[in-house]
Amino acid sequence: TIEVRGLHKSFGDHEVLRGVDLTVPAGTVTVVLGPSGSGKSTLLRLINHLEKPARGVVSIDGELIGYRRSGDRLHELREREVLRQRTRIGFVFQNFNLFPHLTVLENLVEAPVSALGRPRAAVRELALELLGRVGLADKADEYPRRLSGGQQQRVAIARALALEPKVLLFDEPTSALDPELVGEVLDVIKDLARAGSTMVVVTHEIGFAREVADTVVFMDGGVVVEQGPPEQVLDRPEHPRTRAFLAKVL
Ligand code: ATP
Ligand code: MG
Repeated sequence: TIEVRGLHKSFGDHEVLRGVDLTVPAGTVTVVLGPSGSGKSTLLRLINHLEKPARGVVSIDGELIGYRRSGDRLHELREREVLRQRTRIGFVFQNFNLFPHLTVLENLVEAPVSALGRPRAAVRELALELLGRVGLADKADEYPRRLSGGQQQRVAIARALALEPKVLLFDEPTSALDPELVGEVLDVIKDLARAGSTMVVVTHEIGFAREVADTVVFMDGGVVVEQGPPEQVLDRPEHPRTRAFLAKVL
């Protein structure tokens, strides 16, 4: 379960998040929609503490992210403790961010071995299984540049899974892809959803949201304007800003 409470974030005098609350129960999928600049990526980056909040807290399965509580005070965790927490939070970016000098298999094996100290042989076995799961068992020894964008993104998803994360965060995972490659990546994410992964997915793919989301969150101007089940938020939005946004993207 991801819990976000009262999250505020500013860049300079621009308040990008203005009090965001969000609960993503274990095993559920939350899709975040909203116009450009509404703070969606910033929210994800705060969940895994790539950015520090000005106010507010994030916890995952009851563990505060980036802080330790003592009494009623919060103390910042040391960088290595934050890194340890971050390894359990899978993050998939728009632009894949694979290591170009490593093969597909090495991309998956690197972090579990170096960051978590897992035995290489066991990680290799898991990695091969994960590549099978995303339909790329035959690409283990290829280099990323030899793969299509859709294949690279599926490798990026498998790489996130290799760390056996508690939760998965996706930031517009298909928006850099040619249209014909979007489906294969969404299918992988759908499979993960069916398997009970806890996920937050920022996307403009409304069809995907309708099919996969337990909760749809509409953000605008750094706040959650509206949230609820997809049939409510997508088909009977209550807020005029949600309606105006959906009218543009549908
Ligand atoms: P998009 O749909 O375009 O990805 P978004 O909803 O993800 O938009 P964010 O990337 O969270 O929006 O950005 C929200 C606002 O914060 C934007 O105005 C952006 O310019 C600003 N912003 C984000 N990161 C930084 C940063 N590191 N420094 C300064 N401003 C930033
Ligand atoms: Mg963004």
